[in-house]
Amino acid sequence: MAAPRQEQISPQISPETAVLDYDVIIIGAGLSGMYQLHRLRELGLTVRVFETGTDVGGTWYWNRYPGARFDSESYSYGYSFSKELLQEWEWSEHFAGQPETLRYCRYVADKFDLRRDIAFECRVASAIYQDEARSWAITLASGARATCRFLITAIGPLSTPTLPRIEGRDSFRGQSFHTARWPKQKVDFAGKRVAVIGTGATGIQTIQTIAGEVGHLTVFQRTANWAAPLHNGKIDAETQAAIKAGYPEMFRRCQETFACFVHTPDPRGAFEVSDEEREAFYEKLYGERGFGIWQGNFRDILIDRTANATISDFVARKIRERVKDPAVAEMLIPKNHGFGTRRLPLETFYYEVYNRDNVGLVDLNETPIERITQEGIRTSDKDYPFDIIIYATGFDAITGSFDRIDFRGSSGALLKDKWQHGPETYLGLMVDGFPNMMMLMGPHTALGNIPRSIEYSVDWVTGLLRFAQAKGLTLLDATPEGTAGWTDHVKALGVGLLSNEVNSWMTGINTNVEGKQRRIVARYSGSAPAYRAKCDEVAAKGYDELRLA
Ligand code: NAP
Repeated sequence: MAAPRQEQISPQISPETAVLDYDVIIIGAGLSGMYQLHRLRELGLTVRVFETGTDVGGTWYWNRYPGARFDSESYSYGYSFSKELLQEWEWSEHFAGQPETLRYCRYVADKFDLRRDIAFECRVASAIYQDEARSWAITLASGARATCRFLITAIGPLSTPTLPRIEGRDSFRGQSFHTARWPKQKVDFAGKRVAVIGTGATGIQTIQTIAGEVGHLTVFQRTANWAAPLHNGKIDAETQAAIKAGYPEMFRRCQETFACFVHTPDPRGAFEVSDEEREAFYEKLYGERGFGIWQGNFRDILIDRTANATISDFVARKIRERVKDPAVAEMLIPKNHGFGTRRLPLETFYYEVYNRDNVGLVDLNETPIERITQEGIRTSDKDYPFDIIIYATGFDAITGSFDRIDFRGSSGALLKDKWQHGPETYLGLMVDGFPNMMMLMGPHTALGNIPRSIEYSVDWVTGLLRFAQAKGLTLLDATPEGTAGWTDHVKALGVGLLSNEVNSWMTGINTNVEGKQRRIVARYSGSAPAYRAKCDEVAAKGYDELRLA
């Protein structure tokens, strides 16, 4: 791929006379960046995408750890914008694995000829706004530079993996991997002594997948997580035909549900039914595919502690039934947060793994890790020798991918400084003082079923750029009032949510990152329809809440 032209913008230059390399630069060729590129071609703009990886796919490119797969229904997750694509592509399972999903991303890239505008192996190191030229100057890690009028970040909310800050980590002589930086070559687990640190959605998928392959597996758990069965299965021909015929209806439903999943909260409260009806409802949800038990549960389980206790008790009983050793079962039952108040991992015989002779569970609250040694892991209790250590230790979420790029807005203001007390955004799409920069899936947007949210945000940004093109605008900026108003709105929406009272990536906590030990409100937690209604209104009023020039 050709390196971008090396362009130095003179500070005296005006927006009209500035010679820019591209109209738009997009950072990231994951699902957001790919679709944004596709849409911007309609406007006839020159667009360049810079991507760190060697291929498209973002999350699905990097997270190639064993057992990585969707936990929202495959067909509700794919792009909806092309009827032809929907009819051509066939998902083989209700919840497709990572290799299939990456194949899908590549298929989309080929079908829409996206790669010709994507520069791979190009990590953006800095993005600096040039006030006089009303443009952005991008510098890559290689030192190459490129300029553009509009900058779009498509860098993902969970794309900056973090390793534990444990002494001796580099001294380990065996193999070690973070799940989000998994090697492309197959890792041989046969007969190996393997450690997994971390029991979030990633750790759970990894553990349940490799337990049968390894010689011995030791799981190091700091916080037990609630998890519920995925109930994956192959899609037969008849179901495939029904899925294809039902796409318009399914996507319409996703537009109406709270978080764009096919599931949405039951209108009843947990105590508006009898004990028997509640138990039967939970039993039904536990037996169904996907996120129903989280997203399609009683409307009050995520806001009312007593309602939440009923589902937590139910799932705790299930764990006790499934894990033979009662002491291990108790270790696996979360005691410090209620069901669904962290992002729910979905599992496939995860709990049964702990009934195997070759699997052990270590509670790090009882016996913390003291250091990594050349041979393995030393806890306060003993030394564990390992051949392989797997870090399923998560991400510097939501703001982390912004922190690692040096973003400087108008007059050189640092984005990192502006967000030092938590993100401040306008609609989750823009930040005042960072003109001509739009964020896809940044802080304060409706995440939920991500591709549905991506398509909406991309369409909104495309609409804004079409408007700018039609009016000859060279400056689009959020106002300080707009940013303060949206940030306050997002914070107000989070009040009363049990999830905001729990430490997790969703509340910005990462013990492995300096300065990320304080909870923040980084997610929009209102409904997706309400989010879209607000953004639509802004567009319909000619973006009059923005500063335009
Ligand atoms: P995570 O949920 O943040 O879990 C990280 C795990 O590592 C936690 O158990 C954490 O313990 C542990 N950990 C971190 N640092 C540690 C340390 N220094 N010592 C010991 N333990 C440590 O990360 P994740 O599992 O990668 O999942 C992140 C998100 O990615 C998910 O919630 C989900 O949204 C997404 N995801 C989606 C899928 C899917 O769609 N199928 C699959 C995987 C992930 P603490 O809880 O005590 O911090």
